[in-house]
Amino acid sequence: RRLFYKGKLADTIEITGADAHHLMHVMRARPGQQILVVDDENQVGRMEMTAFREDAVTLALKEHLDADTESPIELVLAQCLLKSDKMDWVVQKAVELGAVGVIPVRSRNCVVRYDAKKAAARCVRWQKIADEAAKQCGRTALLQVSPVVGLSDFLAAEHKAGDALIFFYENENEQTLKRCLGSVTAKRIVLLVGPEGGFSLDEAQEVEQAGGRSVTLGPRILRAETAALAAVTAVQYDLGD
Ligand code: SAM
Repeated sequence: RRLFYKGKLADTIEITGADAHHLMHVMRARPGQQILVVDDENQVGRMEMTAFREDAVTLALKEHLDADTESPIELVLAQCLLKSDKMDWVVQKAVELGAVGVIPVRSRNCVVRYDAKKAAARCVRWQKIADEAAKQCGRTALLQVSPVVGLSDFLAAEHKAGDALIFFYENENEQTLKRCLGSVTAKRIVLLVGPEGGFSLDEAQEVEQAGGRSVTLGPRILRAETAALAAVTAVQYDLGD
């Protein structure tokens, strides 16, 4: 039982709103039960439920735990929009593999049709999937799903931030991820993976002009969701944990 608390751990905390409802009606917690609470500074505490009312639950701190499960690198997956079930899957796996953010990117060859209203609703859905996955796999931080952004806007924002931007390009034949990672010193690493339809030549040039380093994942063309999973896994294996 794990709860992400928007505040700081204290001897006693009161949980209200949707979290209280979740504790009482979904987790069916009752006084005496133990709950792991992760606060917004990633501190983890073992807490005991001491009381509950209609709309609030009181928890008492039993012990602080040294249980940080976060990677030393900040890995962000910028994933061009995929069909619904694929994107859901990618978000869930990114959480399990320790990414701190997913940026859904709109690019030319996205197969899914873009609709601003639906896109906002999909982001809410992905954030829920991410939060659930974080609880299930024992993360001590939540992955943040950003609003959908167009490729050019994404490049402008990421470039300014000065992070390492690694661009997984199906037509790159020479630069390997391993060689590229050898020269990465930034703590925040953004991985850009294309949609089902891949990147156009113009887009690939735009990404490279904005500082993206294009790399290959090998001689085979992977499905977009396989590429995302392989990219996050390989970078975490090499530079994180
Ligand atoms: N049409 C297939 C599909 O339905 O998923 C293949 C899509 S592939 C073009 C989608 C994205 O995966 C690419 O834009 C790229 O980001 C990444 N990718 C796939 N294979 C790759 C490889 N060998 N090297 C680097 N990136 C790759």
